[in-house]
Amino acid sequence: MSIADNLAIIREKIAAAARRAGRDPAEVRLVAVSKTKPAEAVDEAARAGQRLFGENYVQEFTAKAPAVREAVEWHFIGHLQSNKVKSLAGLVSMIHSVDRLSLAEEIDRQWGRLGAVCDILVQVNIAGEATKSGTSAAELVALVRAVAALPHLRVQGLMTMPPFFDDPEGARPYFRQLKRLAGIVAAEGIPNVAMAELSMGMSGDFEAAVEEGATLVRVGTALFGEREYRL
Ligand SMILES: *Cc1c(COP(=O)(O)O)cnc(C)c1O
Repeated sequence: MSIADNLAIIREKIAAAARRAGRDPAEVRLVAVSKTKPAEAVDEAARAGQRLFGENYVQEFTAKAPAVREAVEWHFIGHLQSNKVKSLAGLVSMIHSVDRLSLAEEIDRQWGRLGAVCDILVQVNIAGEATKSGTSAAELVALVRAVAALPHLRVQGLMTMPPFFDDPEGARPYFRQLKRLAGIVAAEGIPNVAMAELSMGMSGDFEAAVEEGATLVRVGTALFGEREYRL
């Protein structure tokens, strides 16, 4: 199966899941997760109509992006160290993985130097897994409040990575919980905060995520094929 074939299938599944939930399929954007895949794979997907790509590793991304020939938009979705933010400034239109104030302050500083504003999502570790990044649900409102006070950031919503399940239904309660948390944050009416975006769902469970309200689904393997393992 070509990337174009995979893309068509994924788009169809997203649209069907949206319709099942009574949602407009246009509310859901596909983030094509191209980590470990070469620039040529990004170009191939772009020529098949995909415009938005997600990357996880700063060094890999900054090497790959200039080699991509098609006009694409990038989101950063991986765990981010503050000292690497500088390399992303101006190159990505959204960062999905803001999980602490110190990271937000560095994004604010670097985008501020460009006179720009960075759209960000706050990552929530709903299950409290030690191996995953993200703020706890209990600390979420306080973190959003602090981040929202920074002038060169705009909080657009929340992101989560649920625990791994073989059955996509296992992830569904976590998607529901992220949506509920977004409602709680929205009800606080914090200036500079929109809870318009919910980034949730990957290759194994994006249909359940769309049914539960995802506006950004992050799909890698189902589009590009298996990755070489990487720790
Ligand atoms: C790798 C990755 C994905 C995509 O995972 P697949 O299972 O390959 O679709 C999505 N989100 C994040 C944060 C990732 O690191």
